[in-house]
Amino acid sequence: NNSSTTLPFQAEVAQLLHLVTHALYSNKEIFLRELISNASDACDKLRFEAINNAALYEDAPNLEVRVSFDKAAKTITIADNGIGLSKQEAIDNLGTIAKSGTKDFMSKLSGDQKTDAQLIGQFGVGFYSGFIVADRISVESRRAGAPVNEGVRWASTGTGDFEVADIERAQRGTSVTLHLREEAEEYLNLWKLKSVIAKYSDHISLPILMEAEEWKEGENDQPGDMVKTGEWEPVNKASALWARAKKDVTKEEYEEFYKNISHDFEAPLTWSHNRVEGSTEYTQLLYIPAKAPMDLWNRDKTAGVKLYVKRVFIMDDAEALMPSYLRFVKGVIDSSDLPLNVSRELLQESRDVKAIREGSTKRVLSMLEDLAKKEKSAVENAAGKIDVGSGESVPAPEPTEGVTDVVDKKTDATVPAAEAAVEFAGGEDAGKYAKFYAEFGAVLKEGLGEDMANSARIAKLLRFASSTSDTVSVSFADYKARMKDGQEAIYYITADTLAGAKNSPQLEVFKKKGIEVLLMTDRVDEWALNYLHDFDGTPLQSVAKGAVDLGKLQDEDEKKAAEATAETFKPVLDKLKEALKDKASDVRVTTRLVDSPACLVVQDGGMSTQLARMLKQAGQ
Ligand code: ADP
Ligand code: MG
Repeated sequence: NNSSTTLPFQAEVAQLLHLVTHALYSNKEIFLRELISNASDACDKLRFEAINNAALYEDAPNLEVRVSFDKAAKTITIADNGIGLSKQEAIDNLGTIAKSGTKDFMSKLSGDQKTDAQLIGQFGVGFYSGFIVADRISVESRRAGAPVNEGVRWASTGTGDFEVADIERAQRGTSVTLHLREEAEEYLNLWKLKSVIAKYSDHISLPILMEAEEWKEGENDQPGDMVKTGEWEPVNKASALWARAKKDVTKEEYEEFYKNISHDFEAPLTWSHNRVEGSTEYTQLLYIPAKAPMDLWNRDKTAGVKLYVKRVFIMDDAEALMPSYLRFVKGVIDSSDLPLNVSRELLQESRDVKAIREGSTKRVLSMLEDLAKKEKSAVENAAGKIDVGSGESVPAPEPTEGVTDVVDKKTDATVPAAEAAVEFAGGEDAGKYAKFYAEFGAVLKEGLGEDMANSARIAKLLRFASSTSDTVSVSFADYKARMKDGQEAIYYITADTLAGAKNSPQLEVFKKKGIEVLLMTDRVDEWALNYLHDFDGTPLQSVAKGAVDLGKLQDEDEKKAAEATAETFKPVLDKLKEALKDKASDVRVTTRLVDSPACLVVQDGGMSTQLARMLKQAGQ
């Protein structure tokens, strides 16, 4: 029954393959990371399934990955003894892209190699990255627990189709053999492969083995050569990175681990690694990416946090661990309390999970607060002042000063002055919060509605443009600090665009009086602000709703003049009201306009024009 079948790739795969080989050419070594990561995933899956069925280990309980190369045949093989693939699984998983949003992703590709390479990297081409270096890939596999004669061979040249055939295979698991293109022959070298593995896969928690080599003198004047010794040696550290002590992990290792779990080419903005002890014990390693993935707006897309229980991988995208408005966070949570056979349903109900979720949410918010604080310090340092978190300003330390310590008054933590000087000088942290906010600010706002318990902290993290600042950099606190004497509310306006907001007639009187107005142009603003009525005791007031009461900002003369005008125009108003009775609920004289003759406003407590338009667009 050695029947071999040829099947076409799903159209998107064929298209992707073409792109992969062209666009990712400059970063070709990532193929090894992708294939080793698949091998490691396959071992994780076996370990997980074996929790309830130890027989799956057959006679090989030690999970491992072996990387080998054959100089003469010009091949590299990555072999694992993980879960393996059945024939149908090989067809399904290696012939299609199961990921949601594939089509959407394809339509975003521009044809420009550099930007496309970044996009593809984010999307994670995974297995297909093998074709960057290979003009033919063959895969042999047998699923754990399946009989020896149910092995499968899959082979393709990475063009339109692939072949599958039944084979006999004694070992469980998968071996992927790459037939290298001529330009990739540099990888037929132990040292080269070892260095790529060290760079990308050191943190993989199972051993990656390679066969050792030794120098053999040539005989009869022949040149000597390296020959294989038959001994397989581990070439990675093989300890889960998050389980190591912080001080033993380098910045490069943290960044590489991030790239590995996120498929992002770019380093993360920041991360936080902690062991949390107490009634619920867990380790968290959480990253804030520098760039939004293209499916950020898909709320069904679950968070990027992987769940481990005592270093055993349990599941990807464990949505119960992170609220939806923090779905951009990537990382790992490893619990020592949850049972190994925990299911998604069980996760929803677990008290430990609830504690982990709360702890992780707080951790992410404090990472963001930290970035925001450093950004502020960098700006203020330029003006000779720094803020150490207490709200008071103290003179900035001289960058050369290295003996005294700076105490963060809020936490009483001591920051070595030398480190503080680097931070306060801006360094690489300057601009990070702005970068974060440009990518994820709008998602963060969803938290106002989703996470009432933290809404005050979230509100502090928000930034807006305003009538006096074109950049999205004004916080509610900044605004409050600049409020006029007698001003009792934080004024804002929502619109589709910044230009639309700035030129709104409703802003005229505020401009005239020199009152700052926050300009909100994100689609979620309107919805999110429904949940935020005040900031730190000062009410938020839309300038487009109701009769704007400028309170003490309006002087007596102005009020009297307005009343007099209203009296004079009463007959006109009555006529207008009659004429517009089906269209407007009221017509009144206003003090909010300076140059424009009239404007539409929404009833206090009514739906804003912006929100009404949004709902109309959505067909409601
Ligand atoms: P991803 O790893 O993101 O799912 P890949 O393109 O890397 O995407 O792999 C596609 C799928 O092929 C995997 O989800 C898995 O089902 C299967 N696969 C790839 N490599 C292996 C392997 N070594 N063992 C078992 N299954 C594998
Ligand atoms: Mg993969």
